[in-house]
Amino acid sequence: MILCKPEMCTACMACVNACHHGAIQIYQDGEFFDYPTIVEDACTDCGNCKGVCPILYPQKPVIENQKYYAAWSKNHKTRFQSSSGGLFPELASYILSKGGIVFGAAFDKKFSVYHTSVDKLSDLPRLQGSKYLQSRIEKSYRKVQQHLESRRPVLFSGTPCQIAGLNAFLKNKTYENLYTIDIICHGVPSPGVFQSYLKYLQKKLKSPITHINFRAKKYSWIFWNISVDAKNNKTYTGSYYKDPYIRGFLRNYFLRPVCYQCPFTSLNRQGDITLGDFWNYKNSHNAAKNFDKLGVSLLICNNEKGDLLFQSRHRQIDFFEESLQRALASNKSLKEPFEKPQNRALFWEDYKSMTFETLLKKWMQKEKIPTHIYIKSHFKMHFVTHVMYFFAINYWRVMKRIKKLATIINVRQKN
Ligand SMILES: Cc1cc2nc3c(=O)[nH]c(=O)nc-3n(C[C@H](O)[C@H](O)[C@H](O)COP(=O)(O)OP(=O)(O)OC[C@H]3O[C@@H](n4cnc5c(N)ncnc54)[C@H](O)[C@@H]3O)c2cc1C
Ligand code: SF4
Ligand code: SF4
Ligand code: SF4
Repeated sequence: MILCKPEMCTACMACVNACHHGAIQIYQDGEFFDYPTIVEDACTDCGNCKGVCPILYPQKPVIENQKYYAAWSKNHKTRFQSSSGGLFPELASYILSKGGIVFGAAFDKKFSVYHTSVDKLSDLPRLQGSKYLQSRIEKSYRKVQQHLESRRPVLFSGTPCQIAGLNAFLKNKTYENLYTIDIICHGVPSPGVFQSYLKYLQKKLKSPITHINFRAKKYSWIFWNISVDAKNNKTYTGSYYKDPYIRGFLRNYFLRPVCYQCPFTSLNRQGDITLGDFWNYKNSHNAAKNFDKLGVSLLICNNEKGDLLFQSRHRQIDFFEESLQRALASNKSLKEPFEKPQNRALFWEDYKSMTFETLLKKWMQKEKIPTHIYIKSHFKMHFVTHVMYFFAINYWRVMKRIKKLATIINVRQKN
């Protein structure tokens, strides 16, 4: 029995969940990504694994009357804790209020990411926030199926390839009590590079790491910041322009190979609802107070079920219907994957032969931050800061005017 080609495998793990003979093991390749492999001795050749592979047998998702929204939670704390506008916790709260269960990605103790479930509101923060790593699915599709069969409402969130994996595992059967959310996906970075980065930060902070927030909004949502807390109460904050992991991620050096040719990065969305960042949102709608600090979600209802789930939280959410053009304008990952960099293989050669510090200098060097952006993203814009900000970016012009004024005053005094 042959599974799909490694370069196309997404690690959705539908095959592993479908094998009831424990005949599929997981191995890591040289870039630390997980892949399934069949143990021939244990395999009965039943074909279940192959039959559920969404790469070998792609299914067209059910899309009816797709609608696009700019939206955010009315609850500031919820919005602040989430990566975009806090739509995921809002929708998840509804499922929990109906006695349901919610699946999503959480950190384990070593800061690798895995799929787990919560059935209490107080546990929801574990799933909140983007973790820019591949989440291990483990046996979560089987657990979803058990809950569905017992008629419990289930909300499953994940990357589009994970939703495709779940749908394929369920043999595309329609369950009234299953709701799915796919997140717009740039691609998933190598867990090996992330662990090297954590070691580097640990050395810098001189203490073990206790908490990571990939999208800390303390200073800004628009200009991303990663924040990492250590046991000795020190905190590292790295901005979009400065942090080496974010730089390497956005330069696409260490994404999973299939991500560069992802068949799910398209408008044919896999979930009932799609969530992402509405980067192109401008402060044109009055209700979006602090949109650049707290975040705005792009929410797409892909079918009637998605519509119903969204409607269930209308009172807790501010939203405006938007056009496809505006949704697409700043979000390439909604339509097509990022290209593989030509020097990707060279990056991996260097990763294996260089110290992490040397690798950072060569591949993930800082980008120049324009002064006005630095000031804008790092200071609260109340009156005094506005004056300082104005003065800083207009320094020479202001000095020239002051000098001119002083000359006029001098001349008048002499006269
Ligand atoms: C690897 C990755 C790449 C992304 N790329 C883009 C992009 O290019 N453009 C864009 O607009 N948005 C992207 N997002 C989505 C975005 O960052 C937010 O997750 C999304 O908008 C939901 O935000 P929220 O405020 O509604 O909820 P939040 O509270 O932030 O909820 C986070 C949701 O994401 C899920 N999640 C978190 N980490 C993972 C993971 N590693 N694997 C699977 N599911 C995960 C959680 O289960 C939860 O459902 C990406 C997210 C991830 C994890
Ligand atoms: S063919 Fe059947 S037994 Fe063999 S790995 Fe696939 S699912 Fe398991
Ligand atoms: S089912 Fe998923 S994990 Fe298994 S081979 Fe196919 S793509 Fe890879
Ligand atoms: S880019 Fe595609 S294959 Fe890669 S993680 Fe995202 S959805 Fe999966």
